[in-house]
Amino acid sequence: MVDVNLFASDRALREAVAREGADWAAADLDVFGGVTGSATAIELGRLANVHPPELESFDAQGRRIDRVEFHPAYHEVMAISMAQGLHCSTWEPLAGGGRKPGAHVARAAGSYMAAQMEPGHCCPITMTHASVGALRHAPSLLAEWLPKILGRTYDGGAAPAAFKSAVTLGMGMTERQGGTDVRSNITRAAALDGSGTGAPYAITGHKWFLSAPMSDAFLVLAQASAGLSCFLVPRLMPDGALNGIHLVRLKDKLGNRSNASSEVEFDGAHGFLVGEEGRGIATIIDMVTLTRFDCAVSSSGLMRQAVARAIHHAQHRSVFQRLLIDQPLMAQVLADMALDVEAATALAFRLARAFDGGEDEGEAAYRRLMTPVIKYWVCKTAPAVACEAMECLGGNGYVEEGGFPLIYREVPVNAIWEGSGNVVCLDVLRVLERSPEAIRHVLDEIEATSGNEPRVKVALDGIEALLARATHDQSVARALVEQLALAQAAALLVAHAPEAVSDAFLATRLQGGWRHTYGAGTHSIDRRAVLDRAAPQSA
Ligand SMILES: Cc1cc2nc3c(=O)[nH]c(=O)nc-3n(C[C@H](O)[C@H](O)[C@H](O)COP(=O)(O)OP(=O)(O)OC[C@H]3O[C@@H](n4cnc5c(N)ncnc54)[C@H](O)[C@@H]3O)c2cc1C
Repeated sequence: MVDVNLFASDRALREAVAREGADWAAADLDVFGGVTGSATAIELGRLANVHPPELESFDAQGRRIDRVEFHPAYHEVMAISMAQGLHCSTWEPLAGGGRKPGAHVARAAGSYMAAQMEPGHCCPITMTHASVGALRHAPSLLAEWLPKILGRTYDGGAAPAAFKSAVTLGMGMTERQGGTDVRSNITRAAALDGSGTGAPYAITGHKWFLSAPMSDAFLVLAQASAGLSCFLVPRLMPDGALNGIHLVRLKDKLGNRSNASSEVEFDGAHGFLVGEEGRGIATIIDMVTLTRFDCAVSSSGLMRQAVARAIHHAQHRSVFQRLLIDQPLMAQVLADMALDVEAATALAFRLARAFDGGEDEGEAAYRRLMTPVIKYWVCKTAPAVACEAMECLGGNGYVEEGGFPLIYREVPVNAIWEGSGNVVCLDVLRVLERSPEAIRHVLDEIEATSGNEPRVKVALDGIEALLARATHDQSVARALVEQLALAQAAALLVAHAPEAVSDAFLATRLQGGWRHTYGAGTHSIDRRAVLDRAAPQSA
């Protein structure tokens, strides 16, 4: 499977883009699909991972340089995604460009394909895009940084932002002692001069995880006198000197190897208050929500890539005088996985439309509730799909050259970062408590989308029962979140996918008994129809 157009070959993706409001972007996405699926781009992705970044702490005279060196292939994939605007396109209206309905959907389609080209670089791309969500709480900082964030000509050099064609931004929340519990952060911020949003502070402390440390600035949480607050901390001072951010070491990670993740010490680094002092979590949450959305999008893309490769292999590999795809048991396994890819894609793009919904109350409610729900289900499903799809290639699946190990190692990270499983499920319970209208809105939408389909109705009754328990028993949170994701996916497939797909999904995901592996419990579905749709289409 080489030189495959990732857009033209993916029916579910093309339909989702058109359905959710970005049909206008189809021609451009078709070109991007050709670029990201090209043999050249896939090779760049491989190289960026087999030559992971290295930390250079000092120069020859022992002065700190705190620099990360990447293989040129990493810079090339960054340049491809930034030229497409994946780090910025939805924010162009903030600089006076006209608002484009469907901008998030179009960007999500690009991200879905960029992840298939090379997933690690999606981390800085995602964080740069999401940073604007937090920076909107500091208009003066936004005005200063937005023109550079909107730059589409990647500039991987170390120079003050003012001298660069484009910048990238990262995020530093996680500390050793606290982790998810950021309220126990101990990094401190001392006011230097003045007060209010945009005021300068000196930041001292550490971050246990800080990805993309070569970013031009970071959104960082630190304790100020009024409590946990959010700061924009540039990597370099305006004169090019280092800004007191010492990279201690790079993490030796399971996957995500092209991307650098670091441990850092802040030594009086200059930062600028974003939002109000003491409102750090409320400020950075807008960034976190956007990164969670991207986790779901890129995991959907990786699931698609894994299953497309598995189907392609089965179409061409003959065993016992018969193509694998014609062996009933293999077809069943493939079709079963294809159902989850179809569902993940439908969920991710419905969520993208909610981000396009701006101030609309219904769409805002949908985003609040369904961002953690969809992030949870898609990112939890992706590792199982990657593993089973790898097995479809037999021994070759396990060998590096085939590309599967890269996907397999990558997918767990999207479930862990930006809110691991339990954390996002507990977030859902918080949304239920604080915004009870959100769940009513989503359940009504699911029912209406499914056209009152009786099997979806039964699933919704089950969700009501879980909701009643969730008010006093958090142990039902995972079941509730999973059922919500499945009911929403089922409704979307009933409304928009061919009957063979939606019927199979409902029969197995809503009505089927518990199953632990793909291909168990799918014996009565129309696997041929499901596979014909999921197979990579020739351009
Ligand atoms: C490759 C990588 C890159 C990263 N990059 C960044 C970055 O750039 N910036 C950044 O700030 N962070 C980053 N992180 C950190 C990441 O966001 C955290 O690891 C993640 O949020 C989980 O926090 P933790 O590791 O402290 O785990 P903990 O908070 O200790 O959680 C451990 C486990 O306990 C569960 N848990 C937590 N609270 C509860 C509860 N109340 N009830 C039940 N279960 C609970 C969690 O779901 C998790 O499974 C990165 C992590 C990785 C792996």
